[in-house]
Amino acid sequence: MIETHVHLNNDTLERDLPGVLARATTVGVTDFVVVGFDEASSEKAVTLAETDARIWAVVGVHPHDAKHWSEGVAERLRTWAAHPRVLAIGEIGLDFYRDLSPRDLQYEAFRAQLALAREVALPVVIHCRDAYDECLALLETEAADIALIIHCFAGERHHAEICWKRGWFMGVDGPITYKKNDTLREIVKATPAELLLLETDAPYLSPEPFRGKFPNEPARLTHIRDTIAALRDTPPDALTAQTSTNARRAFPRLLRDA
Ligand SMILES: [Zn+2]
Repeated sequence: MIETHVHLNNDTLERDLPGVLARATTVGVTDFVVVGFDEASSEKAVTLAETDARIWAVVGVHPHDAKHWSEGVAERLRTWAAHPRVLAIGEIGLDFYRDLSPRDLQYEAFRAQLALAREVALPVVIHCRDAYDECLALLETEAADIALIIHCFAGERHHAEICWKRGWFMGVDGPITYKKNDTLREIVKATPAELLLLETDAPYLSPEPFRGKFPNEPARLTHIRDTIAALRDTPPDALTAQTSTNARRAFPRLLRDA
């Protein structure tokens, strides 16, 4: 299984890294895509990827941190992007739920990083919360040439249909297991198999039966895989194989066999 979105660069998980990796490996997780959210966490992702062959990095500035975007940060991302173990630019996007950075600065950092991804020819991991209309409209008009992964998809059905039409990958996380999430379950059930990716977003978004417990960890990817498999009436092993193939298509630098 390929864990396509995890924050092993988060202090809580990093403190117990050998244990976190061992528990995940035991249940069949072979690769870990560690996603940056600011300059320091991106650097940490690259360092982790250099020290463990199972770990890969994604570098970028989250909309929460857009207020710290600068030319200097852009330059560091550009340098890291040349690293063979850096798979993508992310997580970047818009977050109008928490609005931790002013929206004009969110747009500025988002657009600058899309341009950077185009320049270095890497895919992009999108974070979008309470901004699906705005985010997808921008991507359709300004990023139609970039390979996209919509991390932790949480839009409506008509948003999902845009992703399917465009061939954008959709990451599915713990919320697929939450009781009131029938809309998401209907969407994931109808999503083309070749666009599905498994991710935990650990330490966040613990799946049932651990909902609300911090930290989440990648060993729980099986809960997400099994929930999707049951929903789609697919054997779990077949879903593992399909999503691993998908992950290698989504992140072309992810070459290792799972
Ligand atoms: Zn994340």
